[in-house]
Amino acid sequence: MKQTSEIIANAAKENRKHLLETEAKTICMEYGIPVTRFKLAKNEEEAVKFAEEIGFPVVLKVVSPDIIHKSDIGGVILNIKNAKEVKAAYKQIMKNAKKHVRDAKILGVIVQEMAPPSTEVIVGAIKDPQFGPTLMFGLGGVFVEILKDVTFKIAPITEEEAREMLTEIKAYPLLKGYRNLPPADTDALVKILLNTSRLVTENMEIKELDLNPIMVYEKGAKTVDARIVLK
Ligand code: ADP
Ligand code: MG
Repeated sequence: MKQTSEIIANAAKENRKHLLETEAKTICMEYGIPVTRFKLAKNEEEAVKFAEEIGFPVVLKVVSPDIIHKSDIGGVILNIKNAKEVKAAYKQIMKNAKKHVRDAKILGVIVQEMAPPSTEVIVGAIKDPQFGPTLMFGLGGVFVEILKDVTFKIAPITEEEAREMLTEIKAYPLLKGYRNLPPADTDALVKILLNTSRLVTENMEIKELDLNPIMVYEKGAKTVDARIVLK
């Protein structure tokens, strides 16, 4: 995979272990993992132009090799509805980033489509010292953070194993649809798990991967934030 190898080699050359969200999402796209439409804007004018191209509402996030947890420093602004709001958000993000991270190298902002709220899931990968690349799956938010309702499988996984991962979590009935919650597109999730499996087994330089959250809909799914850490 050409872009993936180039991104990983370039980060290594620059001594960066954490890929930028733009880089991580480009890799996801090359492996067929759906992500929000996005563009990297280097200034306010570009941010407006790209927002108009992508279509409102949009999300703006800081892109910096020195900032890993973007929302912690006020580097994420959601639900931006017009050009005027884009300009204000751009200025606010720059101000927040400079205030919280001294001398941060800021490459610009990632402008992306705002994914409509839905059921949130997490797909992750870690390197187990004994078993190598290992995949994780769970429902987002409290299910992972408080209830630790997650499941793991050693990569590479088969399609059958990907389906098992979905049914193994306790919250599985929620994916099947519950009360006014529509059923989630489990085929789309199986595909994401299989493609993530391929991504981490083909690129052994990847130490950790975190697609968190992925919005899953009745039809399709979309990765909203992607984090990749190299060895
Ligand atoms: P952080 O680096 O802080 O993890 P995220 O990119 O995950 O930043 O953004 C923080 C939160 O904002 C996400 O967990 C998600 O709830 C929301 N969010 C981010 N991007 C989008 C988007 N494109 N559409 C909808 N919600 C988003
Ligand atoms: Mg995140």
